[in-house]
Amino acid sequence: MQLIIKNLSKTYPNGVKALNDISLTIPQGMFGLLGPNGAGKSTLMRTIATLQDADSGSIMLDDLDVLANKQAIRERLGYLPQDFGLYPRISAEVMLNHIAQMKGVNDKSDRKYLVESLLTKVNLYKDRKKALGTFSGGMRQRFGIAQALAGNPSLIIVDEPTAGLDPSERNRFYNLLSELGENTIVILSTHIVEDVSTLCSRMAIICEGELLMEGKPREGIEAIQGRIYQKTIRKDELEQYRHEYQVISTKLIEGNLSMRVESPEMLDGGFVLANADLEDVYFSHISRKVDPITI
Ligand code: ADP
Ligand code: MG
Repeated sequence: MQLIIKNLSKTYPNGVKALNDISLTIPQGMFGLLGPNGAGKSTLMRTIATLQDADSGSIMLDDLDVLANKQAIRERLGYLPQDFGLYPRISAEVMLNHIAQMKGVNDKSDRKYLVESLLTKVNLYKDRKKALGTFSGGMRQRFGIAQALAGNPSLIIVDEPTAGLDPSERNRFYNLLSELGENTIVILSTHIVEDVSTLCSRMAIICEGELLMEGKPREGIEAIQGRIYQKTIRKDELEQYRHEYQVISTKLIEGNLSMRVESPEMLDGGFVLANADLEDVYFSHISRKVDPITI
């Protein structure tokens, strides 16, 4: 099974070109869609989820034309939107039972079994009677995955699921997502590089509606290996360095800036050749479209 996106474009009525001729092939397993805020990730996710139309282009799930067979896709889809709203006073158990019913699980005992197994899977069984409004961010996202998994989807879309989670909630959520991969297509959109490096076997980087990179994280790293240099400077030196070098990222460490620079030529003058990582891949690519330091 694979999802093939061809030449997808979308311009909103206000003139914003959110998708600009995107073509992508997404196989089974966990696929990371990485890009800064405003890149077009949610627009792409909603289009694949058949919630909005593109202006042009096609999406095929094997032989099935997604945009022409919306109902067929919806039956095979699990979707966790970025702004996942919950009914605050309803319990997890009641809500999930309701969702399972909407997804066509009509037999009452089948449904009870499904709801229990989903709640167990996302580690919310002991919290099943609690009102959703009392859930922490991590619990909400785990509940969001439970509802997305109801109905055994073959295509799962999760839009920025780790935004706002604290480190331990994020880890728990990683463990849950990493179990999904194998037999389904899972598309995870995120602006957090660590999400992709931890979870995804394939990835793409988009920015301002354009596809900048597609492939395996390791291939992305290999492509820039030997071109990334590091130097620690004072904060007030940054502007000068930005004039002379392609600075792709900076990190504040104990009051000084640890700066990463991309250069095809060897640099001396205090620069040290760095071991490139996925964050360098990300900033190297997006720096072609946006200022990577101020974004
Ligand atoms: P991301 O999810 O990567 O942050 P979005 O797909 O939400 O990106 O947005 C892409 C661009 O389209 C942004 O510039 C955003 O402001 C714009 N946009 C998103 N939704 C709408 C809309 N309904 N109407 C007009 N512009 C929109
Ligand atoms: Mg978004």
